[in-house]
Amino acid sequence: MEKEISIHDKIFSIYIQEEAILERVQELAKEMNSRYHGETPLIISVLNGSFMFTSDLLKKLEFSCELSFIRVSSYNGTESTKQMKELIGLTENPEGRHVILVEDIVDTGHTITMLVNQIMTKNPASLSICSLLVKPDRHETEVDVTYKGFVIPDRFVVGYGLDLDGLGRNLPHIYQLKNN
Ligand code: 5GP
Repeated sequence: MEKEISIHDKIFSIYIQEEAILERVQELAKEMNSRYHGETPLIISVLNGSFMFTSDLLKKLEFSCELSFIRVSSYNGTESTKQMKELIGLTENPEGRHVILVEDIVDTGHTITMLVNQIMTKNPASLSICSLLVKPDRHETEVDVTYKGFVIPDRFVVGYGLDLDGLGRNLPHIYQLKNN
């Protein structure tokens, strides 16, 4: 495993190793297994960043569930923008369903807040948020993340699905930007 990697001339150092991620994913799944036992929730995965997390998480869920994807884009390089673009809309109807939104990271919170508001207008039976990473120091909105993988400081991260301008998603570990 590389201790340091470079992407687009930026240096990143190893932050959370694959084994630790998978262990945490298993713990989150365990919590969800007791909450959703006997239900068939609709899981909405927010592309692109959460594809790897969603895949590992779903393999550990023991209740029946449906999976749908939504794609939004709000990042430009290492800077979040408040301008949200919905690139793939929701195809399933959340009305009366137990919905679980799966995100890679909640940073400013604008993306998740926008999605929560959108889904709530459709009257789901319940709505919970599951995010692999949470950066509370960066929150600009009130967000209640039910299932949190790791609470991290204000550092830009890549790997395990997360990218820097398109690169780094395939890395099995999470790396953080050096000297940030
Ligand atoms: P928010 O709307 O909460 O500011 O940002 C949410 C989205 O921004 C995430 O789904 C993710 O795609 C992207 N993002 C936020 N922080 C980071 C980060 O540290 N690294 C990467 N690669 N993407 C991030």
